[in-house]
Amino acid sequence: MFEARSIKFCKACGGEAPYSIPADDNRERAICKVCGTIHYENPLNVVGTVPAWNDKVLLCKRNIEPRYGFWTLPAGFMELGETTAEGALRETVEEAGARIELLGLYTVLNVVRVGQVHLFYRANLRDTDFAPGPETIETRLFREEEIPWDELAFRTVRETLLRYFADFRRGRFDVHCADIN
Ligand SMILES: [Zn+2]
Repeated sequence: MFEARSIKFCKACGGEAPYSIPADDNRERAICKVCGTIHYENPLNVVGTVPAWNDKVLLCKRNIEPRYGFWTLPAGFMELGETTAEGALRETVEEAGARIELLGLYTVLNVVRVGQVHLFYRANLRDTDFAPGPETIETRLFREEEIPWDELAFRTVRETLLRYFADFRRGRFDVHCADIN
């Protein structure tokens, strides 16, 4: 759950930074009582891929909390200095050790409750030699009927996979935007 009023101290000088509404603003920010720094907090981007091999999709079993032991598409927080596509590619290499050809943007999912936007790209696997990284217990290819729907780590993974297989069956992939409540 995204935590309101989570900042206690200034990131610049360590001074106390209670929440109040700055002049010419309309929402509360943590403002340093010592140096006046205003701390703006904004949603984080999570970027990932749907790596496909014919009618199968690659999933990773998580070796880390949260949701240890649950299955996910390769995804993670976007880093500074990279594009969304570069981040999605990096996460796929880090978590699955998979070689992919990145295709188009596929889902844009707002998760307002936790202050995140999740973006998944479609991708084609170049081969099936995977080398799971330290954050992954196991990587495996799943057909639609084999997907462990009750053991998926995140709602955005579920929503992306539901749309993916529906699009796969009808033979056309559109970009999907949705809000996850
Ligand atoms: Zn300060």
